[in-house]
Amino acid sequence: MPEKMRQQGLVARAPKRLAERFHQLRTGHCRTGQYLEWTKNSDTAACGWCQHKTQTREHLLKHCRKWKMQQKTLWEEVRKAPGEGKDRFTVRDLMADERCTRADLDFLRTTKVESRVDRAQYHLSRVKMEK
Ligand SMILES: [Zn+2]
Repeated sequence: MPEKMRQQGLVARAPKRLAERFHQLRTGHCRTGQYLEWTKNSDTAACGWCQHKTQTREHLLKHCRKWKMQQKTLWEEVRKAPGEGKDRFTVRDLMADERCTRADLDFLRTTKVESRVDRAQYHLSRVKMEK
């Protein structure tokens, strides 16, 4: 079977919710802070996980401190497949590259990157950590 079809099959066979998240991330319609601010669903573009001032796809897949471990796994996989590291790969390229589909799905499965953190919950956990 051609590689491209095989990779699309991976998404098709993934649980529905996971496949939806994959497509949202691919099309840029995932609920990042930047997107929510732009669509007026939020008054801030900040990252709810780490408070970085602008939460974008790039931020979530490369820089967010909350998901360091999962990012490491993702980009190690990407480096194996197309032979490029995260500095040369934009998230757009990553999501468009069928060879990376499995790594993308694994990343989504092990994170909740695009879900919104309940602010009260977030502050609560901060308070606990500071004690
Ligand atoms: Zn962040």
